[in-house]
Amino acid sequence: MERRDFLKLTAASGLLIAADGLPAQASGAKELPPGAVGLLYDATLCIGCKACVASCKETNSVPGGALWSDGMKQPPYETVTGEPPIWDAASDLSGRTVNVIKAYRAGDGAKDTEGGYSFVKQQCMHCVHAACVSACPVSAMVKDPQTGVVTYNKDACIGCRYCSIACPFLIPRFEWDQAFPQIRKCQLCNHRLKENKYAACAEACPVGATVYGKTADLRAEAERRLALQPGSYYEYPLNHMESGRRVRSVVANYQKQAYGLHEVGGTQCLVLSGVPFDRIGLPKLPEAAYAAKSETLQHTLYKGMIAPGILLAGLLFTAYKSTRDHE
Ligand code: SF4
Ligand code: SF4
Ligand code: SF4
Repeated sequence: MERRDFLKLTAASGLLIAADGLPAQASGAKELPPGAVGLLYDATLCIGCKACVASCKETNSVPGGALWSDGMKQPPYETVTGEPPIWDAASDLSGRTVNVIKAYRAGDGAKDTEGGYSFVKQQCMHCVHAACVSACPVSAMVKDPQTGVVTYNKDACIGCRYCSIACPFLIPRFEWDQAFPQIRKCQLCNHRLKENKYAACAEACPVGATVYGKTADLRAEAERRLALQPGSYYEYPLNHMESGRRVRSVVANYQKQAYGLHEVGGTQCLVLSGVPFDRIGLPKLPEAAYAAKSETLQHTLYKGMIAPGILLAGLLFTAYKSTRDHE
């Protein structure tokens, strides 16, 4: 086979792929799992106290940066004085931080206005069609079919970090400073759900900025808030949608949609804000899930063994050429 013939074969295969409907057809949108749970974070209520960050670290035993108190055992990082650290002001997600509060400032500096500043909480969004799950070659990232919580199995993980690259929110982080590193990300306090408890960040939030619940209830709550009159008062649910506890606060001038309702096929965690989402670090994303597109690509390439056919032709050509060069 001449190089020209191989190139022709490759081009012909490419046309076959295109004819198979590759560019436009993503696999169908996934439904919310029946018992889907998540978080609703309302940036307009957040006071930036970081109680959620400290509580998250404590409950997940994330090394180096919990609010160590007397009686807590073996802090993994010591200060120069040998005393345990008492505060860690994490500025971003990392191998030691799976939940972070950031402050974004712009324009006139007024809180929660179109040109003002806002806090924002970042943790895994627990996507309905999770790109990290789709990208993981060894099923170390798994989405629970009932609750939809995306969890990580360190024993299955081979450290390829495809999940980190695939995630549209850049959530999974690698423990670069550990001898036996793992991926770290919020698992919606899955270990606590088994104990009939719920997300520690929501439980710790004193003002109802982070509330835990069934995703369907959180979506309905978000819609209710968006329909409220700015400047009026509202009894915001505190900690858990079913706790019965409420806190009265002034309604802010919300951006007119909840972030996570439509982005990349929808997420089980939602964000409300008074400041445009892209100004508080939440990227503009398409409605179709990345995972749906990549899965369609894989299925199309392997349908009819088109891609392996191209690969085999390439290998045969290389072998043939190198044999001839040596004759
Ligand atoms: S936010 Fe990222 S890490 Fe979390 S489920 Fe979605 S793709 Fe996975
Ligand atoms: S749900 Fe649990 S792991 Fe996730 S951010 Fe909240 S406290 Fe951290
Ligand atoms: S605990 Fe609540 S108010 Fe405090 S930083 Fe976290 S989300 Fe904001």
